[in-house]
Amino acid sequence: MSYDVIIAGAGFSGSSAARILAERGKKVLLIEKRDHVGGNCYDLKNAFGITIQKYGPHIFHTQSEAVWEFLNRFSDFNDYKHKVLSKVGEKFYPIPINKTTVCDFLNLDINTVNIAEILKQEVEKSTFSMPPRNFQDQVISQVGERLYEAFFKGYTMKQWGKEPENLAADIAKRVPVRDNLDDYYFSDKYQGIPTNGFTLLFEKMLDHPNITVLLNTDYFEVRSRYKSELTVYTGELDRFFDYKYGHLEYRSLEFKYENLEQKQFQPVAVVNYPGDEPWTRITEYKQFLRENVDWTTLCYEYPASKGEPYYVIINDENLKKRELYMQEAQKLEADGSVLFIGRLAEYKYYNIDQVVESVIIKVKNVRQNV
Ligand code: FAD
Ligand code: UDP
Repeated sequence: MSYDVIIAGAGFSGSSAARILAERGKKVLLIEKRDHVGGNCYDLKNAFGITIQKYGPHIFHTQSEAVWEFLNRFSDFNDYKHKVLSKVGEKFYPIPINKTTVCDFLNLDINTVNIAEILKQEVEKSTFSMPPRNFQDQVISQVGERLYEAFFKGYTMKQWGKEPENLAADIAKRVPVRDNLDDYYFSDKYQGIPTNGFTLLFEKMLDHPNITVLLNTDYFEVRSRYKSELTVYTGELDRFFDYKYGHLEYRSLEFKYENLEQKQFQPVAVVNYPGDEPWTRITEYKQFLRENVDWTTLCYEYPASKGEPYYVIINDENLKKRELYMQEAQKLEADGSVLFIGRLAEYKYYNIDQVVESVIIKVKNVRQNV
């Protein structure tokens, strides 16, 4: 069979690329090894009528008008704005760290405190390298050792299975520190959950006469059967090159569900646990779409070294290997035969909007005759 474009992987990167290329008149074959589209954003309704996200909680957020407009063609988004609390002992504190977190944790009077001055004192009492060389330095340079130990150290060790000194400072830059009362997780202009779930958004995006979807199929097992002018690859970068520079590391997760006959379990949809608990966070899914049912479903997240590759692990060792693979990838991109797009194929700690933006940019640059 002959297609203009073969795409490996039906997550946000592969599916967005499929739609844009199909609208340009290209015949696209989208190959997905799982039994569903949507990648890690796939969701489904469980027996209690609650929409759960099979691969962990996803909240859409972006500053990009182009990404927002593109995705709104396939779904409306609700007005959910993400809030996260961190549970330390029996108390809940806002995350990202804000004025409330600092005052509650250090027992300060929120009405009189000068937060900038308090954080400065906390930092001055602490030891770290400047400029920050790693995750630990980055956090301590902003909030000092006491807040770092309480809210970041344990969570990060569980999440990544590594000492925070062996992780890049950039990971910490994802979470701001605020000197005000803002307790929203993201500050992007556009935020929300697709009103009828992510899966329906994907189904609409892929509903185009030029797109054929092949599920339960590993691209590497079938690629010799198909001829195409362009391949869009969204799977693991190291696998594409047969691990010639060694394995890149990925972090996985295990999810355990609990169903309770109660309306609400926790004050916000996601609560982080930086302490000795073996899980990192609990998500109460019904809060995302405000589903009004009598039961609630909780999802406990347990980070794992084996399993599906959910997270790329950003540290010096992996970035060096990534560089070698990207040099190979760029050669193929330059001759116009393959595009590497997405969290796995670019080995980048991308959010959804960054993936879609990368697709829009890279696909726009593809030769028009492809
Ligand atoms: P994926 O979603 O991983 O899709 C890749 C697809 O390719 C998969 O379906 C895979 O099965 C398939 N595939 C791989 N190899 C092959 C092969 N050889 N053959 C066929 N198919 C193959 N982002 C946000 O913006 N907001 C959030 O709140 C958020 N929360 C997250 C929470 C968790 C727990 C995780 C893990 C990520 C989160 N993200 C969030 C990031 C978001 O999941 C990613 O940015 C996005 O899903 C990446 O899309 P992708 O298409 O690049 O990759
Ligand atoms: N982090 C932390 N404590 C928190 C929240 C985040 O230590 O309460 C750290 C942790 O290392 C995490 C990183 O900051 O992996 C980035 O957080 P983010 O919320 O972006 O993680 P994600 O949603 O991608 O899992």
